[in-house]
Amino acid sequence: MEIDGNVLAAKSLVRFGVQHMFGVVGIPVTSLANRAVSLGVRFIAFHNEQSAGYAASAYGYLTGRPGVFLTVSGPGCVHGLAGLSNASVNTWPTVMISGSCDQNDVGRGDFQELNQIEATKPFTKLSVKASHISEIPARVAQVLDWAQSARPGGCYLDLPTDVLHQKISESEAEKLLSEAENNRSISNPKPEPPLFNSKIEQAVSLLRHAERPLIVFGKGAAYARAEHVLTKLVNSTGIPFLPTPMGKGILPDNHELAATAARSLAIGKCDVALVVGARLNWLLHFGEPPKWSKDVKFILVDVSEEEIELRKPHLGLIGDAKHVIEVLNKEIKDDPFCLGSTHPWVEAISNKAKDNVAKMEVQLKKDIVPFNFLTPMRIIRDAIAGLGSPAPIVVSEGANTMDVGRSVLVQTEPRTRLDAGTWGTMGVGLGYCIAAAVAEPGRLVVAVEGDSGFGFSAMEVETLVRYQLPVVVIVFNNGGVYGGDRRHPEEIDGPHKDDPAPTDFVPNAGYHALIEAFGGKGYLVGTPDELKSALSESFSARKPAVVNVVIDPYAGSESGRMQHKN
Ligand code: ADP
Ligand code: MG
Repeated sequence: MEIDGNVLAAKSLVRFGVQHMFGVVGIPVTSLANRAVSLGVRFIAFHNEQSAGYAASAYGYLTGRPGVFLTVSGPGCVHGLAGLSNASVNTWPTVMISGSCDQNDVGRGDFQELNQIEATKPFTKLSVKASHISEIPARVAQVLDWAQSARPGGCYLDLPTDVLHQKISESEAEKLLSEAENNRSISNPKPEPPLFNSKIEQAVSLLRHAERPLIVFGKGAAYARAEHVLTKLVNSTGIPFLPTPMGKGILPDNHELAATAARSLAIGKCDVALVVGARLNWLLHFGEPPKWSKDVKFILVDVSEEEIELRKPHLGLIGDAKHVIEVLNKEIKDDPFCLGSTHPWVEAISNKAKDNVAKMEVQLKKDIVPFNFLTPMRIIRDAIAGLGSPAPIVVSEGANTMDVGRSVLVQTEPRTRLDAGTWGTMGVGLGYCIAAAVAEPGRLVVAVEGDSGFGFSAMEVETLVRYQLPVVVIVFNNGGVYGGDRRHPEEIDGPHKDDPAPTDFVPNAGYHALIEAFGGKGYLVGTPDELKSALSESFSARKPAVVNVVIDPYAGSESGRMQHKN
């Protein structure tokens, strides 16, 4: 018996642990997808490779295993670059597999011809081709291993049409699969460097002697599943903590040492900051004044040596976040210290946080109609809190919608917030929702989306309905990017001045009707009671739904928090 490249690729994926795949089928990969399904892989078929790629990357983040997505050649690969690049920027383990044109026709304008290796290289840790059927098992193992080793990221595997149609005997295939399996450790890139105990002692000493210490953690710590060791560290030392947007939930937002509501004070005044799995990039103001004190000493924990070299912290600890913090905890245990609630720094943060929360609560309590951003966000927050544990996974994108959601929505469990991330990518929403539902079948998924963000991937509501995923998409519909026409009078001129503004969408768009076209449930809401009832019904139904929330087009600010850049 002989098998072809499609079957061998499917067998390789299964042998090396792939359970789910996302993608768009077509020439030349349809049979590969079908074969994978027949061997037990769950294949989630999308409308667009961009969303499939976003889904694969979020799956990689949530599960700690590479998310895999499949595309057709040429344009399919190009659409997939969105997902692949976003994965690498977020450092999430992701593998894109694309079919490519027949190797014998390269350079002759073959159907969907593209040099896909060169096209993907800028966005990957590794881009490789199986040039012959016999190379398939080793290449599949290699991209999967590379994607999740050391600093995770995107990898690419190219499968030319002719290779997918080559044949070998089943016994030969079996031999190649076993060889590839046995060689997996060899194909792995360099392992993480060993930790130096002297540095651990130094880190503990810095924290112990700090007057105003702070622990910052991000999605790298969440990815590393460092929640238990970080909880132990915070609780044993009494040091206040600050999560990055996706670090929210590693410790609960409502923990007494949470400095989120006193963020400016915490980062502005801390003298030692232990930063775990979070880059000192734009999201953390580059770790520089005026937001941070110029004398702050950073202790950076990151799996990437490159990252530590780039930031030049006072002290760099290279390694897996969970492992490093575990060692740190052990070192502290020998000679424990704890700030206690009456420590002036802890008290200052706690008072400031309480103050800000109280002020925010006054605004949140008001029922403003037509809706601003705060009223519906409070109602969503309360509805989510009512669900208890397991908490839903919250997906969020948009400008004002995401900004307001980040400060109002309460995260109590790790890896329950997926947002626009390091790149501020719009269009990730539906892909992330689908990945979350597939990766964590026990959880409800609630997306809180701006209407613009939603529009990038809105057709994937059909995918939600097709697979009957428990996803409720809440659209903050303010009729545009930022909402409505906000041009200055001097910006309205020229022969096309009567066209809708570049930020305008059709007012009062019926987004709820979109999902109804496929048999899902849609809700149109404009008042607190309508929203409460839509959420209570859709959350308990656990079926695909879109809640179209009509927002005042002039509520919120232009560009949200990033106004100064627009
Ligand atoms: P955030 O956006 O939450 O600030 P970033 O994506 O900026 O997070 O930073 C995450 C960092 O975590 C990256 O620099 C990445 O190298 C690092 N990282 C990834 N995996 C691990 C791990 N297992 N242990 C420690 N750090 C990790
Ligand atoms: Mg909008």
